[in-house]
Amino acid sequence: MKYETVIGLEVHVELATKSKIFCSCSAEFGGEQNDHVCPACAGMPGMLPIVNKKVVDLGMTAGMMLNCDINRVTTFDKKSYYYPDLPNAYQTTQWFAPICVNGRVDIETSNGPKSIRIKQIHMEEDAGKLVHDDWTDTTLVDFNRTSVPLIEIVSQPDISSAEEAIAYLERLRDLLRFAKVSDCRWEQGSMRCDVNLSVRPVGSDKLGVRSEMKNMNSLSAISRAIKYEIARHTKAVENGETLIQDTRRWDDNEGKSYAMRSKETAGDYRYFPDPNIMPVVIDDEWFDGIKATLPELPEVKRAKYIDELGLSEYDADQLVSSRALCDVFEDAVAVCGSAKEAANWIITDCMQVLNKKKMTADMLDINGTSLGQLIKLVSEDKVSRGNAKRILAAMFENHIADVEAYAKEFGFIVSNDTSAIEAIVKEAIASDPKSVADFKAGKEKALMALFGKCMKQLKGNANPQVLREILIAEINKA
Ligand code: ZN
Ligand code: MN
Repeated sequence: MKYETVIGLEVHVELATKSKIFCSCSAEFGGEQNDHVCPACAGMPGMLPIVNKKVVDLGMTAGMMLNCDINRVTTFDKKSYYYPDLPNAYQTTQWFAPICVNGRVDIETSNGPKSIRIKQIHMEEDAGKLVHDDWTDTTLVDFNRTSVPLIEIVSQPDISSAEEAIAYLERLRDLLRFAKVSDCRWEQGSMRCDVNLSVRPVGSDKLGVRSEMKNMNSLSAISRAIKYEIARHTKAVENGETLIQDTRRWDDNEGKSYAMRSKETAGDYRYFPDPNIMPVVIDDEWFDGIKATLPELPEVKRAKYIDELGLSEYDADQLVSSRALCDVFEDAVAVCGSAKEAANWIITDCMQVLNKKKMTADMLDINGTSLGQLIKLVSEDKVSRGNAKRILAAMFENHIADVEAYAKEFGFIVSNDTSAIEAIVKEAIASDPKSVADFKAGKEKALMALFGKCMKQLKGNANPQVLREILIAEINKA
């Protein structure tokens, strides 16, 4: 008999907000333990939640990127359970009217394109973190992550292999990062995945008994875990064993899953409407405002960069790998008019600076308009390439609104004053008769030595072509 796998994924994504979902504490990753905490997110009596509007903005953005319908009246509910990292003993989430429903994500697989339906996206708060200290045999709790805003993206059980799961998760990550919903970093826990999986005979319309693996945090672990579970389920079904619906832990080092507990059902959580939070009503103005901020999809930009702007496929791929690169690129091209140059400056020079700072492409935070001005100054021979790189480095530290004024102030403008260049050339020739003689004897390299000396004296601010011409003319006179 042949079997097929049925997989549904629940993906938690931390939203890119400055503050938490119901209070003004910082939502930033890390920090000193229990530094981002106030009475509200510590669950003190009498504290009331206030919904962070940005959370709703980003929830809506995610839904629009994933082709969902947006519920114009969306409400929050309490999910009751106790755990030491949850000070309220309930999680505020959405159960009865989640913000987004009925979406779709299109993926590419080795069997061709496939659509994965999205059941819903709901907004909720994250829990804190337990810190197990092996030295003192104690467990401590860190509430920094408590009430950091999340969306949970629940797929329909449309996924049938590890390959499809990975394609779906990669596409999800690309879309959410492109729309600046989240940085989606598996390694920092801002993207996490629960895998629900069952196996049934091909042709059966009845679902098999499913197991759930929670809080998976890397694509490779997810892929291995799915393959392991498919084998485990198939073997059990073939042997006529009774599977138990359970929640399992994946041990990536051992390459095995272990049962943690039999699966709880929705009823166990006693969901009920949170009486402290008014329904959120999304009017047309709010809805349309968010719609207007949606970015073009990466593949649309890619085609545009190649077809309309004449970039190579390689350059286009590099740029669309990050929304930040696209934004800087498009602003720069609008000013300098050269797509090829702007792409080069971003892919080569900007990436070099980022690498040195151990930053990723997403962290590129320079002003594209200023970069465009800089590229223009170089193409007009007003600033040398070497000095332009210095100006670029300064742009990473401070916003430079008027690049030409900045170049003037710091002596980075190429001199058109040939008499000044001549004076320096004469000095160099007089101080280095050996190089002069070598050059006259046919040693091309000797010219470079003199050229370098002069350029250094001129602080790089000479047109190389002009300097070279003057140098040769003066040597011939000498
Ligand atoms: Zn707080
Ligand atoms: Mn959840």
